[in-house]
Amino acid sequence: MKAVIIGAGMGGLTAAIALKQIGFDVEVYERVTENKPVGAAISVWSNGVKCLNYLGLEKEAAELGGIMDTMSYVDGFDGSTMCRFSMAPLIEEVGQRPYPMARAELQLMLMNAYGIDDIHFGKKMVSVTDGEDSATATFDDGTTATGDIVIAADGANSLVREYVLGGPVQRSYAGYVNFNGLVPIDEEIGSATEWTTYVGDSRRVSVMPVSGDRFYFFFDVTMPSGETLERGAAREFLAEEFKDWAPGVQKLINSLEPDKVNRVEIFDLDPFDTWVKGRVALLGDAAHNTTPDIGQGGCSAMEDSVALQFAFTNHPDDVHAALAEYQEARAGRAGDLVLRARKRSEVTHGKDPEKTEEWYEELRHEDGANVLRGIIGNIKGGPVT
Ligand code: FAD
Repeated sequence: MKAVIIGAGMGGLTAAIALKQIGFDVEVYERVTENKPVGAAISVWSNGVKCLNYLGLEKEAAELGGIMDTMSYVDGFDGSTMCRFSMAPLIEEVGQRPYPMARAELQLMLMNAYGIDDIHFGKKMVSVTDGEDSATATFDDGTTATGDIVIAADGANSLVREYVLGGPVQRSYAGYVNFNGLVPIDEEIGSATEWTTYVGDSRRVSVMPVSGDRFYFFFDVTMPSGETLERGAAREFLAEEFKDWAPGVQKLINSLEPDKVNRVEIFDLDPFDTWVKGRVALLGDAAHNTTPDIGQGGCSAMEDSVALQFAFTNHPDDVHAALAEYQEARAGRAGDLVLRARKRSEVTHGKDPEKTEEWYEELRHEDGANVLRGIIGNIKGGPVT
């Protein structure tokens, strides 16, 4: 069996590793010319880490992962701790520590695990077709790649999604822009082994540790879509937007490297159940584009890849049966995570400001049980138990 994979993000790469493991001949095509992911880091929750472990990357994942022993919510304005609690009950219940990781390092680790020299960079897919015996991707340089299947891991703005669904779909703006980057760990901003989140005014500012004594940070700024900001102007912008916020937030704004701050408008897509057309299947954000509010988009892509492997293990000689099983295993679970993230995003970002205020009040009385129950609910249900 031969798989042509479009996209060398975490979805395409984990799919490539997973299919190679069961003897597929795999070709990966990526439009960019080098490993330059958008975004500083991601939180790989326990379900994602379990997928990486399953793919033989346990040691590598642990090396990249930051250690989060506790979580806290802090009043964004006065800096007082609303709640702080241990993550041990979560780790115990799901049997795996989550690992925040620098995105570029995660990408590179996955590229090396697959074989970086075997990735066809600079190949922009412009169309796919499939027939009785094969599926083919065509690239903008006029070349083609043909396999038994095409796996489209071409991201949130997937072109192949249009092929599979028969037309374009509209993503919806979540109402906020995420600014993110990396800074050295600083106890004045947050504890070194804690996921700290400042909240207020329907916004949030968060830091969590990744390897190498660094914090991954992000600011969620509720604002209209379509505004622009010059590269390098993030510090002035954030200083103005968060000028009344606590000293820890001011320290963070002063510590960031403005040239290296990423600015991402946040969108999601209503879940849909058709991920497969003939020999072509969607995987990762192409199939389930979510807001990052529960940190599950990338984890879900990893789950897709493991589920794809399981499906072909069950149906080694039957592409259609395998892809049907893959779709059946994944569409419901991934769609559920998209909706959970949307719900979380609406409360966090003040869709109904009263509900957001109620959440702040709940946080002031939180002992960890409710928050951890929610996160455990997101984690459970993946292909690797
Ligand atoms: P992508 O990472 O987008 O990769 C798609 C790849 O396909 C790209 O390399 C692209 O260049 C390539 N490509 C696209 N079109 C073509 C084409 N025509 N031809 C060839 N190649 C093409 N997830 C988590 O699990 N935890 C988190 O904490 C988290 N935080 C996030 C924070 C933010 C601000 C955002 C925006 C997302 C976050 N996510 C998180 C989600 C996560 O980033 C995505 O779910 C994940 O990157 C999806 O991987 P993917 O491989 O499907 O898509």
